[in-house]
Amino acid sequence: MKCRSCREPAVIELRRHNAGFCAPCFLTYCRNQVVRAVEEHKMIARGERVLVAVSGGKDSLALWDLLLDLGYQADGLYIGLGIGGYSEPSGEYTRSFAEARGVTLVEVDLPGDFGYDIRSGAAADHRVPCSACGLSKRHIFDRAAVEGGYDVVATGHNLDDEAAVLFGNLLHWDVAYLARQRPVLPERDGFPRKVKPLVRLAEREMAAYCVLRGIDYQVEECPMSAGNRHLGYKDALNAVEERSPGTKAAFYHGFLEHGANLGAEIGEREREGLRPCSNCGAPTVGEICAFCKLVRRAGGNPNRRIPVSAGPVSAGPVSAGPVSAGPVSTGPVPAGPVPAGPVSAGPVSAGPVSAGPVSAGPVSAGPVSAGPVPAGPVSAGPVPADAALADAALATPAPGAKETAK
Ligand code: SF4
Ligand code: ZN
Repeated sequence: MKCRSCREPAVIELRRHNAGFCAPCFLTYCRNQVVRAVEEHKMIARGERVLVAVSGGKDSLALWDLLLDLGYQADGLYIGLGIGGYSEPSGEYTRSFAEARGVTLVEVDLPGDFGYDIRSGAAADHRVPCSACGLSKRHIFDRAAVEGGYDVVATGHNLDDEAAVLFGNLLHWDVAYLARQRPVLPERDGFPRKVKPLVRLAEREMAAYCVLRGIDYQVEECPMSAGNRHLGYKDALNAVEERSPGTKAAFYHGFLEHGANLGAEIGEREREGLRPCSNCGAPTVGEICAFCKLVRRAGGNPNRRIPVSAGPVSAGPVSAGPVSAGPVSTGPVPAGPVPAGPVSAGPVSAGPVSAGPVSAGPVSAGPVSAGPVPAGPVSAGPVPADAALADAALATPAPGAKETAK
């Protein structure tokens, strides 16, 4: 198969687009999709400061890389969850990324800074770990953005994440959650704006992006992810996508087009009930917010200030225009075609190196093409199950909102 753009040999096939791309044109495709999402949904304006929620996984690091590449002033915030054997390497991948690019990374450590970890917080608050994790991340990112004067929080939810959440919410007709499932949640009532610039890109594409850009990321699954139902929804959608490429994108983007006002009045009602937490000031529906309750129950201190500095407002060139069709790679990976040999990107290649297609690894990657990766296997390695889980909860402005927890 040849690259749709330049007719060079393709290294990845995107069945939903019925197209293949060479490495530089694929990177350009990814940038174009982000630009399109940002513009279409008015996510980020010129000169705004962006706080990127980074977990050390492929999606959030790819998002950070893409935003930097497009000229945004984007700082990262990493939260150490205190999950033994998982959190440490996740933090190291994130630090390495930031150091290599000389960009600002804010770090918060739940055990060190707030006196609890996900396991103890979940047990004390009688929640499942992913619920405690999502709640913690949501609160800390909101607080960091407000205290640091950021205009917007960006999370790495991709098309697969959003389609899986939509599927789950529709299966249960969770209208209130459907009302909040948007690629942009405007700032309001003490919540920062939250955006998902990767909604036009699939999980498999993000893995391939990281490989091609030389981004090392955490490929291990979070040990708390077992049994998360969103992984099941992803599998179901991947099975459909395998038979009918493009269905997932049509499903999600059709919802954005046709279901835009679904449950809008519910969102309004919830907004009316918000007031500041009497302990930390965060918007909440009760006297004390859910985060403060959880941390106190776990024996920690919820009042730790997050070490963000309200840096200068960027005058940087936030790209509002289309990304040029040519390769715009400014990053560490050469824009040339993927070499014949394996593309080694450190831990990314820890996954099953296939001799053929770009492999999205063990989180059944749906439309993984049996196609056109040439002699050189571009192994995207295992897609961490975390992609379906933790951080997505960051994007929900109201307590209890149901999302994937990216
Ligand atoms: Fe947090 Fe994801 Fe781990 Fe659940 S699976 S505890 S949401 S990182
Ligand atoms: Zn509070």
